[in-house]
Amino acid sequence: MPDTTDVLIVGGGFGGAFAARALEHATKGRGVRARLVAPENFLLFSPLLPEAASGTIEPRHAVIPLRDLVRGTELVAGEVVAVDLVAREATVAHPSGEQRSLSFRTIVLAPGSVPTTFPVPGLLENAVGFKTLADAIWLRNRVLHQLEVADGEPDPERRRPLLTFTFVGGGYAGVEALAELESLVRDALHRYPRLRRSDFRWVLVEARDTLLPGLSPRLAAYTERELRRLGVEVHLDTRMESCVDRRVVLSGTTIEPYASDTIVWTAGQRPSPLVASLGLDLDGQGRVVVDDHLRVPQANGVYAIGDSAAVPDPDGGTCPGTAQHALRQGRRCGRNVAADYGAGRAGPFDYRTRGLAVTLGRGNGTAQVKRWTFRGWPAWWMGRSYHLLMMPGLGRKTRVVMDWSVGLVFPRDISQLGQLGRPTPLQP
Ligand SMILES: Cc1cc2nc3c(=O)[nH]c(=O)nc-3n(C[C@H](O)[C@H](O)[C@H](O)COP(=O)(O)OP(=O)(O)OC[C@H]3O[C@@H](n4cnc5c(N)ncnc54)[C@H](O)[C@@H]3O)c2cc1C
Repeated sequence: MPDTTDVLIVGGGFGGAFAARALEHATKGRGVRARLVAPENFLLFSPLLPEAASGTIEPRHAVIPLRDLVRGTELVAGEVVAVDLVAREATVAHPSGEQRSLSFRTIVLAPGSVPTTFPVPGLLENAVGFKTLADAIWLRNRVLHQLEVADGEPDPERRRPLLTFTFVGGGYAGVEALAELESLVRDALHRYPRLRRSDFRWVLVEARDTLLPGLSPRLAAYTERELRRLGVEVHLDTRMESCVDRRVVLSGTTIEPYASDTIVWTAGQRPSPLVASLGLDLDGQGRVVVDDHLRVPQANGVYAIGDSAAVPDPDGGTCPGTAQHALRQGRRCGRNVAADYGAGRAGPFDYRTRGLAVTLGRGNGTAQVKRWTFRGWPAWWMGRSYHLLMMPGLGRKTRVVMDWSVGLVFPRDISQLGQLGRPTPLQP
């Protein structure tokens, strides 16, 4: 017999967690039962992921435990692998390996997105994404590991690929990750007396003719200039055609194929595969089409929010996939679901984009707030302040501020903790 609940929320990211919080708040004492299914027991605060990768903040401080965030919602560890919207039943794969059915009256779909991939030879074997906390921790350890190995490698030919880092995708995730890691290396370099800045090669490849598509062209141009000033090779209108055996071949004839031991794929996101399996109307990007109340028009009691939903933007078109939108959609969705259960009134999603900030390593960034654009230190500071405001919980805010403050005074920690998560096998 399937287990039953009133509201089932799929995903514990910005959309799902904030929907659960708003629902709890609006239906307090009314006996509405809500469950949230999430593979991890934390919300990943992805705007801080690049800083977690560079060690500016402690990786644990870039996540918020879901059990602190949503106290009146039952958390179910696992992944929703199928949903029958007619029978109102979801199948959940639990970490134990078991699969169980959960029945519901209302469902909120907020499973986010996954990295988009293309059939580029060698991509799946040799490139890594930049989406999860594990990706950020891996990348930091990888960069530090490469420094250690290169420091002991006398042959410049063999050293070159160790110190070549290729990022494919010049959106904010790729730009921020590259800039943060470059700044980590710059700060760490004086502890590696045998390495020079000129030994490193940082390559950013973008298929379109601009970095940071969607931001003001002035900011994109500033970002490109800043990255070039740091010695980053920026290749616009360029695609990675293959990376078999970590030998990178770019489109066009001007760039010779080269060896790069580290290839990071940040070429965009697509909605979680779950939403394509539900038989709902999808937009051109594969996102579930919803109305301005975040309801799926053709299915009663079905809501969709966040990166996997095409939500009408009050300024026209659909909302971009950002945390600031997913969080507000979550809040609005929670209140609208509560209204279905007789608590409060439903309303449209009317949040208007405020802007976006992109950090370019320590003390530098670009930001756009409405029609105003900012650059350099003020933009970096604004980005930090905004992320801090968005972050729920005084405890987490304080930890992040302490990490930032310590980073202003003391040198970076360059311990390479690649063995984390792998216990040492016992010897006979
Ligand atoms: C590196 C990086 C930097 C970013 N920086 C910024 C920024 O500075 N500002 C900004 O506004 N946005 C930023 N974003 C974008 C932002 O993170 C997303 O737009 C936002 O997280 C979307 O929220 P969401 O709830 O839709 O998805 P998510 O927050 O990704 O949450 C989805 C959750 O659902 C879970 N899930 C997936 N499938 C299932 C399933 N089948 N069953 C159960 N659970 C499932 C996932 O594990 C995840 O926990 C960044 C993204 C990245 C990758």
